[in-house]
Amino acid sequence: SLGASASDKEFIQVVIRVRPLLERNLVVGDRNILEVDTVQNTIDVEMKGSDRKQATPVQVQESPSTSNRETVVTMRSYKFDHVMDSRFEGQPNFASQEAVYELIGSRIVRCAMDGYNACLFAYGQTGTGKTHTVLGNTYPSEKRGLLPRILEGLFEELAGRKEASEAKDSSVQISYLEIFNEQIHDLLVPPPKSGVPREALQVRYHPILGVMINDLTQSSCSTIEEAMELVDFGTRMRSIAATSMNSRSSRAHTVFTFKFEQTSRDGETQMAQIQLVDLAGREQEKSSSDNKDRLRERQFINTSLFHLSTCILNLSRGSKAREVCAFRNSRLTLLLANSLSGNSRTGMIAAVSPASSDLDETISTLRFADHVKKI
Ligand code: ADP
Ligand code: MG
Repeated sequence: SLGASASDKEFIQVVIRVRPLLERNLVVGDRNILEVDTVQNTIDVEMKGSDRKQATPVQVQESPSTSNRETVVTMRSYKFDHVMDSRFEGQPNFASQEAVYELIGSRIVRCAMDGYNACLFAYGQTGTGKTHTVLGNTYPSEKRGLLPRILEGLFEELAGRKEASEAKDSSVQISYLEIFNEQIHDLLVPPPKSGVPREALQVRYHPILGVMINDLTQSSCSTIEEAMELVDFGTRMRSIAATSMNSRSSRAHTVFTFKFEQTSRDGETQMAQIQLVDLAGREQEKSSSDNKDRLRERQFINTSLFHLSTCILNLSRGSKAREVCAFRNSRLTLLLANSLSGNSRTGMIAAVSPASSDLDETISTLRFADHVKKI
């Protein structure tokens, strides 16, 4: 069984994950501008400065006493619950997919088994590894992500309780949806014929029953293989939409929900849910190049992320959740209302790129993560 950890008691755990420099970074001559300390859990960002190689010989001659450093390099330092370095495979502090699960995913499974609604967000600029972290390579690859590993952990725990005769019966239900322009779409149903727009689902908040989404598919599954078949189906539906709409998937929030129920030997029922959210890429507005539709999309994304951070902040300050949390302000927070309540546990993994050309977005992501973490 899973050993508890101190972070299980905390409402939120904030983790940074740094991806490697990609081929496309190397092609444009991007440098690594991050220094990561996985013991102190700090991340230092090189704000300014130039390569020593770029200094002209004239400058060097003019100031021979400062030959070690031609330019002042400004570093900015951030500290988090954990900083995971996935840049250099094979190095001792390399954070593999498995290590990411051990750190942040297993906590979510433990908390859910203890009866909490648990929730995990992947946040960051497009191309920094959110989907890689959540889904990863196709199951059962060694590089599968948090989602398949969390499902494995969940099924294992449920089976363990049955074996130990602590539970008589259990069931798991999966749903998979995306929020695009404040509209909710079910990814477990095939899209309508081309030209016919997907129908948006209605969501409301019931004071007793919680979040209710009309007509959302909830599929039962009893093994990890069954569950992953559903996930793969939904992901295919998502990419069909993506190719027809120009990488729309990075501009939508994707929400996976696993609800599970256990009946104990004396007939008592325990319910909990786990939500995994692959958030839309949070990019700065480049108004000159963006058309009207893009600006509108961006506004929806920024607004929903703002409300999400407000909800998380209020909860980490210990506010009595529902009244204070403005979860009705966006579809995203409304959908997550069960997970953003007083009786819940949350994790956020903020994905960043180490490349010099991504400096501004990296700083903005670290700031957001820092803001959410502060109590
Ligand atoms: P996002 O979902 O944030 O837009 P992706 O998960 O699609 O980003 O990642 C962008 C690219 O970077 C993909 O080609 C992915 O395989 C690669 N990548 C991301 N994170 C890692 C990592 N930790 N290790 C290796 N490759 C990664
Ligand atoms: Mg993605």
